[in-house]
Amino acid sequence: MKSYPAPADALRDVLRLSSAMTSKMAMASLPLGGGKAVLAVPEIPRGKASRELMLRYGDLVESLHGTYITACDMNTTPDDMDVIAERCSSVFGRTEGNGGSGTSAPNTAVGLFHGLRATVAHAFGSDDLTGKDIAVQGVGAVGGPLSRMLAEAGARLTLADIDDVRAKELAAELDAEAVSADGILETECDVVSPCATGGVLNAEAIPRLRCRVVAGAANNQLAEPQDAERLRERGILYAPDYVVNAGGVIHLAGYEMLGEDDDRVNERLRAIGDTLGEVFRLAEAEGISTGAAADALVEKRLTEGRSA
Ligand code: NAD
Repeated sequence: MKSYPAPADALRDVLRLSSAMTSKMAMASLPLGGGKAVLAVPEIPRGKASRELMLRYGDLVESLHGTYITACDMNTTPDDMDVIAERCSSVFGRTEGNGGSGTSAPNTAVGLFHGLRATVAHAFGSDDLTGKDIAVQGVGAVGGPLSRMLAEAGARLTLADIDDVRAKELAAELDAEAVSADGILETECDVVSPCATGGVLNAEAIPRLRCRVVAGAANNQLAEPQDAERLRERGILYAPDYVVNAGGVIHLAGYEMLGEDDDRVNERLRAIGDTLGEVFRLAEAEGISTGAAADALVEKRLTEGRSA
């Protein structure tokens, strides 16, 4: 749910997001296609207006007879999913009290942690994070728990959030440094982890990066596909977003659709690291960007799926 300058912007966004969902499902080996819905609103509704919108949206999703399953994302919560569920059976991520699996963000962070380590291993020859300098942009529902895991693993953290207080409090807790949100991507470090919004890796930002690895949770980090090549030219190893941030859908589909237990979900989260290894090997063998390599693997998996 988001405000857009014009309806065409919302349409463009939902098409990019739904395409990324297809890629994410394919790379996470989940038996789902990809879809996304965007609620383009003049402003984020609260209270009764929010409830009415969720009910109306629930009716719409129900009319698709299970071909589309909705879930939480930007500006929506498990409580909103509970409201949608009053009208609709195709909804992931209701609260646990209401029969759902709750927020997927902690498992997105776990999957990202595995993926980030696999990316570090490829770039530096070891997945040991002790003493690695890592800059995290956005310490919300995913960036927060990720930072805790990184600190636990011995990394030295630089944290930033447009909510200054949030970054400062977490930095104090983790013995990390909090900096202004403006310059976080330009921090001199080993790893930059974009965990805030999309489009942050663009023609303007990439020349200013001073890191060896980019691995973060944000969806659609590249402003355009060529940005993956820009990163390769700069010698920066980029973990494609839809591979490394699949922990959320692994959580939702694993628990709510496939009936999996914690062990199986954790196995899938760890496999994100192995999938990235496959992406990096293909990129090197073909001399292409990691973004292009991931896209090629998606295409292969979808084609094999179609012919199976
Ligand atoms: P969130 O809203 O809980 O956290 C985002 C944080 O980033 C907030 O603290 C916000 O203040 C901060 N922020 C926003 N713009 C910023 C900026 N320009 N600079 C610095 N900080 C900024 O969201 P989340 O659930 O942690 O998700 C983070 C990203 O990961 C989003 O792009 C989301 O789409 C993506 N993602 C989330 C999940 C999930 O399971 N939650 C799964 C896959 C992908």
